[in-house]
Amino acid sequence: VPEAPLRVVPAEDEDRFARFRLIGWWDQARLEGAKVLVVGAGALGNEILKDLALLGVGRVFVADLDRVERSNLARSVLFREGDEGRPKAEAAAARMREIHPAVRVRPFVGNALTGIGLGVYEWADVVLAGLDNREARLAANRACWLLGRTYVDGAIEALAGVARVFRGPEGACYECTMGEADWRQVEQRRSCALLGRDAIPERHVPTTPTSASVVAGIQCQEAVKHLHGLETLRGSGFVFDGVAHESYRVAYTRSPSCGAHDVFERVEPFDGGAATTTVDRALAEARRLLGPGAVVELPGDLVTSFRCAPCGTERRAMRRLEALRERDSLCAKCGAPMAPEIATSLDGSEGLGGATLAEAGLPPFDVVRCRSGERLAGLRLEADRGEALGALAESRAPDGRRT
Ligand SMILES: [Zn+2]
Ligand SMILES: [Zn+2]
Repeated sequence: VPEAPLRVVPAEDEDRFARFRLIGWWDQARLEGAKVLVVGAGALGNEILKDLALLGVGRVFVADLDRVERSNLARSVLFREGDEGRPKAEAAAARMREIHPAVRVRPFVGNALTGIGLGVYEWADVVLAGLDNREARLAANRACWLLGRTYVDGAIEALAGVARVFRGPEGACYECTMGEADWRQVEQRRSCALLGRDAIPERHVPTTPTSASVVAGIQCQEAVKHLHGLETLRGSGFVFDGVAHESYRVAYTRSPSCGAHDVFERVEPFDGGAATTTVDRALAEARRLLGPGAVVELPGDLVTSFRCAPCGTERRAMRRLEALRERDSLCAKCGAPMAPEIATSLDGSEGLGGATLAEAGLPPFDVVRCRSGERLAGLRLEADRGEALGALAESRAPDGRRT
């Protein structure tokens, strides 16, 4: 008895995305070619990453510092009981590959505030945030604005949430939306940086998987629209009210006093890395780009040294302020808390010319901020590209060119 002829099954991906293609403007190739940076792999991040995998987005860089805890399991579609203790970014990346094996995803286990170079933001077509604190949002917003990238923010609390889209150089940015109470919270955390920040209790916001899926869904839809060149929520937000269902759209006003509207006038590749390039070398490049008065602006407050008032002891530090704790500032000789010397930019007069950019707080694959007055130009630390992006670093576009 002859066997039934084999059925020809269409290529997996063609079949897989068939229902998307019924949407008139949908272009699956755009999503397959898309590069997305996701900051945060918590409750919102899980939903974002799940949607990106289902949508067939081609390349995803996901950053998160934390490890999976038991209380994450009820709000995180990608985590399982056996994942407890595993870095969230790695667990989420593994589950994304199960959902869609063709996705190329790079997990980054580290601090989103200090560990992701601006080169990663520049690499991305769109940046989605699933963050639970304003400090990290402020940093992601500034990074996106500097490079003209679209920033899609999300926030949830209980049965409510908000999704918002910002993109420079026109209109409002995330920082423009910060009210006085928001700043008080941020400033309180900042001023406590060296005064026992370890003791500040973590504020846990009540969140649910349902509000996370709603807000992350809107964030991902906005990303899809952006990738298709369609109009988005840019400069505004969608406020979801899951209790009374009085949801609405809010338009944000650009604040003239906002300090987050710097934009690189250009970014040039530089054949060096954060760990191998000295401050002197970067200053020479900055001056080549912008003239003799140029300085190198630092991505954050750099504690260059400590000085002990009671006993006169001095100690070199070279650490980002955010990375220091009270115990790091104690004098080895007399035990008193020492006063930090803080730098926000370097002009060569600090005696730090021989230090590396990494020692000055720049992460790998960062874009060095070269400043002269109002002018700001960037130097992308190309030597770190492979280390930062891994397998995401290169690909071939359909026409054969490298992207
Ligand atoms: Zn602003
Ligand atoms: Zn001392």
